[in-house]
Amino acid sequence: MNRRNILQTLGLGTLGLPFMAGEAGAKEMPTFTPPRNFSDDDVKITKVKAVATSPHGIELIMVKIETNQPGLYGYGCATFRQRAHAVIVAIDEYLDDFCRGKSVNNIEDIWQTAYVSSYWRNGPVLNNALSGLDQALWDIKGKMAGMPVYELLGGKCRFAVDTYTHASGPTPEAVLESAQGFRERGWRHIRIQLGGYGSTHLTQDPDYKKAGFGMPDDNTVSAMTYMKGVLDIFELVRKEMGADVQLLHDVHERLQPMDVINMIKELEQYRPFFIEDPFSPENMNWFKYLRQQTSCPIAMGELFNNSNEWLNPMAERLFDFIRIHISQIGGITPAMKVARLGEWFNVRTAWHGPGDVSPVGHAANAHIDLAIWNFGIQEAVNFSPLMYDIFPGAPTMDKGYMMINEAPGLGVDMDEALAKKYPLPKFNYNWTQLRNNDGTPVRP
Ligand code: MG
Repeated sequence: MNRRNILQTLGLGTLGLPFMAGEAGAKEMPTFTPPRNFSDDDVKITKVKAVATSPHGIELIMVKIETNQPGLYGYGCATFRQRAHAVIVAIDEYLDDFCRGKSVNNIEDIWQTAYVSSYWRNGPVLNNALSGLDQALWDIKGKMAGMPVYELLGGKCRFAVDTYTHASGPTPEAVLESAQGFRERGWRHIRIQLGGYGSTHLTQDPDYKKAGFGMPDDNTVSAMTYMKGVLDIFELVRKEMGADVQLLHDVHERLQPMDVINMIKELEQYRPFFIEDPFSPENMNWFKYLRQQTSCPIAMGELFNNSNEWLNPMAERLFDFIRIHISQIGGITPAMKVARLGEWFNVRTAWHGPGDVSPVGHAANAHIDLAIWNFGIQEAVNFSPLMYDIFPGAPTMDKGYMMINEAPGLGVDMDEALAKKYPLPKFNYNWTQLRNNDGTPVRP
């Protein structure tokens, strides 16, 4: 008996009878329905492959699962741009062989067995390959059920996915102008950042270059200049925009622990919505000291890969928002477990959602956001027309809310022929390379 027959049996009320058994005259026992074999009659995986594209210079890696049912396939996000080729090999050389012939039905079983298939595990390369597989299986399950994935996760718990956007500029005045523009366009949550990610532009000419050391293209950061700049933008933006907007900021881990504790204590007066990633993952034990010093809400976890990194800190309420990059931990299946863990400790989600998450990955974020109780905030998307051509059905924005469509599955397709016109570029190491004023490498 296949699944549909079982559902029809249930629909006819066979199992409804026992609940009436205590009522007068209801003595009939339920009909026994034998359990379905583990994979008999199921739709089978025929191929797992990586699909790579880079329409705007950012490496995007997808997993496509093909099945023995014509027209039934799924896409998932496996984007780890910094090691894109390694993820492609993990998908094409290992997961394809591992998954062929398996049932698409048993997502948890495939996740658990693929997770240990390499014996050594929990690293970003294998987790991203696993995420692509996992999200593609959820996409297929939604298509088979005729439901969007958020329905499979329990249904909506809110009307829409609220987001924050990025306001940045070279001066506090430019950041203010940018933030005011977003506020007028409906955003209620705005991240304010002097410069772009990491604020590397704040560096004055470092002493080591003046002394003739280093390379001309070294990126450098001055912690002192950065910290003063952050206080300046918060003071100006809060003064000019008032209390009617939520302000966020990303430290990007690049300060000494006690310096960031002191900076966050000073920021408390401006009532940030959250301050993100104050410490690098190597400095997790500093959260205990931070919590004793300030009640400022904290977001953490963009760089997490391994459950041991978040399990105890969430249970000890060492931060307020869990900021995991979902493909870095293996997809929707583990992310739902993180979300449920957070619910019991009132740690809300703020899934990482930058340009190096594919549109399928952003959709996966949003499906989870709609279904979980302890959703906090989502990073907004800003796709070009070309991205919507390559990824039809990708999430859209309206008045600061992220919108997804109601198509079964994750709701995002892919034009692979168009995607192939944008091959992966040679990797640029620039963004991860940063030195302080004496030339010491700084960890993001
Ligand atoms: Mg960040």
